[in-house]
Amino acid sequence: MNRRSTYALTAALLVLLGAFAWSIDYLYFAPEPEGTEISLDQFAALSTEKRLDEVVFHDEDLVITGTFVEPPPEPKEKKGKDAKGNAQGEASGKDDAGAKGKDSKPKGGDSKKASGETEEEAEPPSVAPEGAGEFWGEYRDPLTAQLVEIATAAGANVVIDQQAGKQAVRAVSTFLLPLMILANLFALLFSAGKGGGSGLGEIQMFGSIRRGKIKKGASTVSFDNVAGAQEAVAELKEVRDYLINPQKYKDLGAAPPKGVLLVGPPGCGKTLMAKAIAGEAGVPFFSVAGAEFVEALVGVGAARVRDLFARVRAVAPAIVFIDELDAAGRKRGSGGGGGGSDEREQTLNQLLVEMDGFDVSEGVVVIGATNRPDILDPALLRPGRFDRHVTVDQPDADGRQEILELHAKGKPFGSEIDFPYIAKRTPGFSGADLANVVNEAALLAIREEAGTISMAHLEEAVQRVLAGPQKRGRVLSDEERSRAAYHESGHALVSAASGGDEVHRISILARGKGIGLTNIRKESDALMLTKSELFIQLVTAMGGLAAEEMIFGEHSTGAEQDLERATDIAKDMVGRFGMGSKRRRLLARDVDEFLRAEVGIAEISDTTHEEMEAEVDRLIHDAEREASHLLTRHREALDYLAKRLMDDETLEGATLEEILDRVRPAVRTAGNTRGNGSAPTAADDLAHKTPKE
Ligand code: ADP
Ligand code: ZN
Repeated sequence: MNRRSTYALTAALLVLLGAFAWSIDYLYFAPEPEGTEISLDQFAALSTEKRLDEVVFHDEDLVITGTFVEPPPEPKEKKGKDAKGNAQGEASGKDDAGAKGKDSKPKGGDSKKASGETEEEAEPPSVAPEGAGEFWGEYRDPLTAQLVEIATAAGANVVIDQQAGKQAVRAVSTFLLPLMILANLFALLFSAGKGGGSGLGEIQMFGSIRRGKIKKGASTVSFDNVAGAQEAVAELKEVRDYLINPQKYKDLGAAPPKGVLLVGPPGCGKTLMAKAIAGEAGVPFFSVAGAEFVEALVGVGAARVRDLFARVRAVAPAIVFIDELDAAGRKRGSGGGGGGSDEREQTLNQLLVEMDGFDVSEGVVVIGATNRPDILDPALLRPGRFDRHVTVDQPDADGRQEILELHAKGKPFGSEIDFPYIAKRTPGFSGADLANVVNEAALLAIREEAGTISMAHLEEAVQRVLAGPQKRGRVLSDEERSRAAYHESGHALVSAASGGDEVHRISILARGKGIGLTNIRKESDALMLTKSELFIQLVTAMGGLAAEEMIFGEHSTGAEQDLERATDIAKDMVGRFGMGSKRRRLLARDVDEFLRAEVGIAEISDTTHEEMEAEVDRLIHDAEREASHLLTRHREALDYLAKRLMDDETLEGATLEEILDRVRPAVRTAGNTRGNGSAPTAADDLAHKTPKE
């Protein structure tokens, strides 16, 4: 689109420049007229001698053309008699009636001439050209009237050529063309400078809302395009029904769903669902990011809100989707973030005014999306505003399967594809991640020129989405490989030996930022975890570091992410879940530091803080000791696993299971028979940085 408009502008510019060049040529480089070029003096002389026959004034070119005749035959010496002779000759020789009429006037002229001749006697002879023929000469504009008078007085046949064509061309080429060329240049500059933009579009944005940033359109999405979110969809169907017939709600006096808050992490289909409602109800869909309302300039945000809703009202029923509502709807007075808090307050107030202003029958629904409902201004959540909350969470295993199957529709998947298996292996993946998995797999198949998408493609795609594309270029040194192999084996062995979740795959292939990877598979996404289950996760996280210490005497920077994870788990155990000595909820990880007091999280006294820190440390140390203990006991298995890993680089499936089964506790512990768990957060993979990083 942009490229096309650039081409069009360039073509137009060339045409304009061509027209300009032609007009210059036409106006200023007219071909020389025929005949002898004469000066103004010569012209004057010709008229004095009455030798002008026809004179044409070319008004635009400031050129005179015409014809002149031979001077009268009388020799110059008899100039005194000349006048008489002439008069006689004319009277006798030419019997024209017209000549007689003319005669009386020229006579006066002759007498003057005659009297002047005495002075002229001393002067050089006439400057007028000899003979007869065509002539041309240039003149200056102010002289036109005089010259016409002279020529007329001399009895010439005077024609004034206005040259209307040239006048028009001159007007166009001196005003219009340069303007158009300038405008065209500007347009080109803008479209080039803006990259993906739309040429001059941005110029029009001043003053009111940036039209480019608000997307309005007819949605073609329906609820069929949403998978694995039955509950959310069921709730949203009511909104659709309202939009289809707002009047019904008014008649029944029912409270309409004016504002709906979709709460959930990114990529889980909030935008998709909002579009689906619009698509199903057949109403226009406006979408804007909350950040668009927060500007450094006070008042602009509020004006944008006003402008937006004015446009929405004009086409209601309609849906307004505000993505990242928290950017605009943060608690008032909480400061922080970009833009002045004054500005945000005004914007927020305007938003509230607009939402309160809708009449039930208007059928305007505002759908907000956020992952941080806790930081929204409470005023936004009151009845009549965003009073309906719909959770759009990470999909569970079934949901993931549905999403995978939905996105796989129409793509050439092989018959052996096992979507339930992939779904199980991808806890923590969002809908967007899963859509990416399918697309990556399709791309891999295309790259390999395989006719169908295979299970191997899907598996590779999962890994890619999980950790970024495989870095085939980077080669580990032998020492690094060995360290990585022991590190990953450490995680896997410790997990198996302590009865943790099944280890699905371990690898020392460098991927993205990490050098190794241990995928721990979670059979389902448990919502509750016991203290011992969390401790096993802690031990597993410390397994890599413990193995490095044991084999190499010290550990490497590759353990950084493990330590981060271990710290998080230990902090949660002590601070959030009351699994330390305190039965208090001390920390809310998701709450910004500056909001802590406002949302009612207990302030921590210094002593409590220190005690908590000490408990976190102790937990992590205990976990490490447990890991070392398990590894010492299964040293043989550790060496074997590490060696296999160095050979094969990746171990998974039956091969891996067979090795790990040797170290699994004979009697299954509680940790192993549970419904099985994971942290409530993202995938539990342990990725590591290179020691060098
Ligand atoms: P959000 O607004 O929550 O950040 P999006 O709606 O933008 O997420 O989702 C991005 C993409 O991910 C969608 O366009 C869709 O392709 C895919 N997706 C996300 N959730 C789902 C879902 N539940 N069903 C099908 N596709 C989904
Ligand atoms: Zn690790």
